[in-house]
Amino acid sequence: MIFDGNYTMTIAGRPVVSDKTLPVVNPATEQVIAHVPDASRAQLDAAVEAARAAFPAWSARPMAERQALVAAIGDCLLASKDAFSALLTAEQGRPRAGCDWEVATCADWCHAVSTFTLPVEVREEAGRRVEIRHTPLGVVGAITPWNAPILMAIWKMAPALLAGNTLVLKPSPYTPLTTLRLGELLRDVLPPGVVNIVTGGNDLGQWITDHPGIAKVSFTGSTATGKRVMESAARTLKRVTLEMGGNDAGIVLPDVDPKAVAPALFWGAFFNSAQVCVAIKRLYIHADIYDDVARELVDYARTIRIGDGSMQGSDLGPVQNRMQFDKVSSLIEQTKAEGHRFLIGGEVPEGPGYFIPVTIVDNPPEDARVVTEEAFGPILPLLKYDDIEDVIRRANDSESGLGGSVWSNDIDQARRIGERLQTGTVWINEMFAFSPHAPFGGHKQSGVGVEHGMAGLLEFTNIQTITSRPLAAAAG
Ligand code: NAD
Repeated sequence: MIFDGNYTMTIAGRPVVSDKTLPVVNPATEQVIAHVPDASRAQLDAAVEAARAAFPAWSARPMAERQALVAAIGDCLLASKDAFSALLTAEQGRPRAGCDWEVATCADWCHAVSTFTLPVEVREEAGRRVEIRHTPLGVVGAITPWNAPILMAIWKMAPALLAGNTLVLKPSPYTPLTTLRLGELLRDVLPPGVVNIVTGGNDLGQWITDHPGIAKVSFTGSTATGKRVMESAARTLKRVTLEMGGNDAGIVLPDVDPKAVAPALFWGAFFNSAQVCVAIKRLYIHADIYDDVARELVDYARTIRIGDGSMQGSDLGPVQNRMQFDKVSSLIEQTKAEGHRFLIGGEVPEGPGYFIPVTIVDNPPEDARVVTEEAFGPILPLLKYDDIEDVIRRANDSESGLGGSVWSNDIDQARRIGERLQTGTVWINEMFAFSPHAPFGGHKQSGVGVEHGMAGLLEFTNIQTITSRPLAAAAG
């Protein structure tokens, strides 16, 4: 299927346009490739109303039917996978192979989540039956970022629906197209109102977090915005799950083969032009092999072609938007002004396109901005260490606690180090090993709650305890 150029919101199963629109820019060309509706507050109210109206029937549906419909969302993505992938490249910038991966992962996720069910725990105590069950919350407001828009949408949609909730979903204004398309296709799959897709700017996000008809906000984005979401959700005591930024450390032990490990380290840091919440953002390398790993990384980086993601042969695309381009460019300029040495990169070309070259910084001080801040763009500091205790302390010296990785031939030692990292996820000798069965979330200021696995599913529910005993016992 090839998608046409019109984009409509989905409210109550119907296409909805808006008086105002927002332009969507292809980050590789800086051309406006579409205009999407900029929802009014009344349109958000209509979406919430539709989701509330759909909730009683949807939540009462047998679990097997909800499971089948969540699987059908996956089928729907697979049926149009090439069109989704091409559209994702156009709006997000990432080369096609990475977009194919994102769309395929979305489908896999729906199929995996469709096998989950809500547990019921029964305890018998002194003639009393105690049943602990999980009930859906109502309407979930989902707010997603621009780095992996369709995956972030599915990570919320699949478990929220399976648990019996209905949804109002707002993608980032920078990357709304794939999510709008998904909404259009789901009009033929789901009952009206079960999934509503609205587009607009940051105000629309704020209205969702304020809205009294929404029971929970599931948010993925920056830590600064996440704090605003929590503050605003507090006014109506909405449940929140917040997946936010990280400043993840990778720790390379001295026993690795520098040449063999360099490609995995490179992609762990630079996949999606480093716009991944759990990318390696500080790479600690043991002093014994620092020079060798640095050289191998630079040699590997020289083989990488940066270009328009729709062109064959591009390994990395542009960063996704002007704001992020300016932010990363200014970080590069500051790093330069502070006198730190670049092993590669550091010169941002003139446009068109938000292209930033792979930039690697040679052992800057621990308090340099390029080390302390999440860049969310292709600039990586390499940092030297020679003592394990010291590197663990430095890795943990952050307000973030999203992920981390350890690289070694000695998996037991790597595990012992991993257990001491103050992060929600630790990967050993691999990166981005997400699983629908493994909870994912941030420690410290990287998150509240988790997504995925049973723990993630249960965040879309309330716990309900029902106790019972024979009436005769009460009378006695
Ligand atoms: P962002 O916080 O700017 O925006 C995220 C979403 O929130 C967008 O849809 C935006 O329109 C909306 N929004 C903005 N202001 C809002 C408000 N006041 N109330 C409600 N919603 C509002 O983040 P971004 O720049 O799109 O994404 C990049 C950030 O996301 C990075 O920090 C990255 O680490 C993080 N991220 C985290 C994860 C994770 O799972 N932990 C995954 C991907 C990205």
